[in-house]
Amino acid sequence: MAVPDQLMEILRCIECHSPLDEVEAELVCRACGLRFPVEGDIPVMLPESSYRPESS
Ligand SMILES: [Zn+2]
Repeated sequence: MAVPDQLMEILRCIECHSPLDEVEAELVCRACGLRFPVEGDIPVMLPESSYRPESS
């Protein structure tokens, strides 16, 4: 996994605008837990691509 640090610094959650952490193959919002997929080292920051893990 290699999302550039410079990109991680500017990327923010599309819902709450908090910083994101790179976890496994996804970016995870530190505040609300929203997850964004990373495809070919490019984060997909789209509402229709983001999701929250179901806790059920
Ligand atoms: Zn968030």
